[in-house]
Amino acid sequence: MDCLFCKIANKNIATDFIFEDDSIMVFKDIHPSAPIHYLIVPKEHIQSINHLGSNHQEIISKMIFIAKKTADNLGLKGYKLVFNVGREGGQVVDHLHLHLLGRPSGVAYGEPRLKEREPRL
Ligand code: AMP
Ligand code: ZN
Repeated sequence: MDCLFCKIANKNIATDFIFEDDSIMVFKDIHPSAPIHYLIVPKEHIQSINHLGSNHQEIISKMIFIAKKTADNLGLKGYKLVFNVGREGGQVVDHLHLHLLGRPSGVAYGEPRLKEREPRL
């Protein structure tokens, strides 16, 4: 299957993982929409939230838990978690992923210097 995130999962495209286990990987978004932008991605090819079956309940909750752990490790006290779903929801890569978006610790959300870098999502 010609899927970008499957290629990353299969190590056919080199990416720096900041977390990886048998079912999940976390890596930096190549075109960040916020000062801190990571993707939490299941290794299994699931097209989108719209394609979840009841057998996927464990992986979807694990993705959220790993996002929280990643945010903890990055020292983020607040952050955004975003699923884009389908083209009309802004999804471009058709392999389920959760966006973790944040700002460095100590920088307020309303800090003017960062306004122009507000996440598009
Ligand atoms: P979405 O619009 O929700 O489908 O998001 C897909 C995300 O994947 C975008 O934010 C892209 O910047 C990101 N992306 C595309 N190619 C790569 C890549 N090779 N490595 C890391 N992130 C990527
Ligand atoms: Zn895939």
